[in-house]
Amino acid sequence: MEAEKIIIIGNGPAGYYAAKKIRAGKPDSQITMFDREPLPFYTKIRLPDLIAGKVEENKLFLAKPEDYGKSGIDAHLGTEAVSINPGDKVVVTSTGEIFHYDKLVIATGAKAFRPGTIKGISNDSVYVLRTISDARRIMDKMRTSQKAIVIGGGLLGLELAQALGGKGLKVDVVEFFPRLLPKQLNEIEASILRKKLETQNLSFYLDRIPTEIASADRGLVLRTNRHDEIAADFIIVSAGIKTEINLADHPGLKTEFGFIVNDRFETSGKDIYAIGDCAQLDGKIFGLWAAAKEQGEALADILCGKRDSYRPSIFNPILKVTGINLDEIRKEANDGSAGVRKF
Ligand SMILES: Cc1cc2nc3c(=O)[nH]c(=O)nc-3n(C[C@H](O)[C@H](O)[C@H](O)COP(=O)(O)OP(=O)(O)OC[C@H]3O[C@@H](n4cnc5c(N)ncnc54)[C@H](O)[C@@H]3O)c2cc1C
Repeated sequence: MEAEKIIIIGNGPAGYYAAKKIRAGKPDSQITMFDREPLPFYTKIRLPDLIAGKVEENKLFLAKPEDYGKSGIDAHLGTEAVSINPGDKVVVTSTGEIFHYDKLVIATGAKAFRPGTIKGISNDSVYVLRTISDARRIMDKMRTSQKAIVIGGGLLGLELAQALGGKGLKVDVVEFFPRLLPKQLNEIEASILRKKLETQNLSFYLDRIPTEIASADRGLVLRTNRHDEIAADFIIVSAGIKTEINLADHPGLKTEFGFIVNDRFETSGKDIYAIGDCAQLDGKIFGLWAAAKEQGEALADILCGKRDSYRPSIFNPILKVTGINLDEIRKEANDGSAGVRKF
């Protein structure tokens, strides 16, 4: 009997852990993986630490190039899947090759979102952070810069701003909400966090909507809906993610925010599954490392006949801003020791 051919597109945590576990559960299957990045599996979670100079790039890798072959995974790193033809059950790659599948797993993740409503968002000195190459570009720019703006004061934006501040740059954080981390912190706690970060080279423009980025004498100027003109050498946008669902264009797979999947990760296409940041389960994109890993492993169990369906765990994203512990902030807020009036 011919080996079952399973193709996995994406070498992030969803695709990587799915590949490893499917291989372990179905040693006779033939697993082929594609990723447009030419690198073995690495952690994105530590990219801000790389920028902060707290970790060497080689410490980010969670797999070596030779691990794939050793695990029986035929990995084509540096090769993009450009289209899918569900009728013929094939994937076409950027090298022009055609690969047949019996089962296809889409684990294409997401890109960093660049809001199109900000005029000038495509300026060369506007960066995002999603990959090691993005981090390398940002680090290059930091060498000749004194001042940066981070658009977006969410969990990742603050971590990034702190990383830049720690390297001696002055950083202005521009945030839509009137206080920091409204989902995680109440008003008093947010104000304590802000004061702590202000001692670390960070300043805040809250309750603002960036409207335009323009080139200026020194670098850039960011304009907001409240008529601020904030100057900087460069800008990093940390405004959430945009799921990678381009492959849906060709086969007409059902999408909304991501590929719509059921509790077995089945898309609307026969024998096509989606997991991780690109998958929309119960109307939700998780956008978390632990969720992507859990989904990859759960899909492997489903494909290997070890479970019928998947229910997600409860995931609590954490603030990784160094030296600042949210529990301590909450305690400080309850003590009233921050000198902030409680209502
Ligand atoms: C800077 C940063 C910090 C983060 N910090 C945290 C954190 O603290 N905690 C947390 O839980 N999460 C964090 N995350 C989010 C977490 O990394 C993601 O949720 C997780 O990586 C999603 O995994 P994934 O496998 O679904 O997608 P991804 O990791 O995005 O992997 C998808 C892969 O698919 C490849 N790909 C896409 N399209 C194609 C194609 N057509 N052909 C070939 N290859 C393709 C991409 O190159 C990519 O390698 C962070 C993310 C970033 C960027």
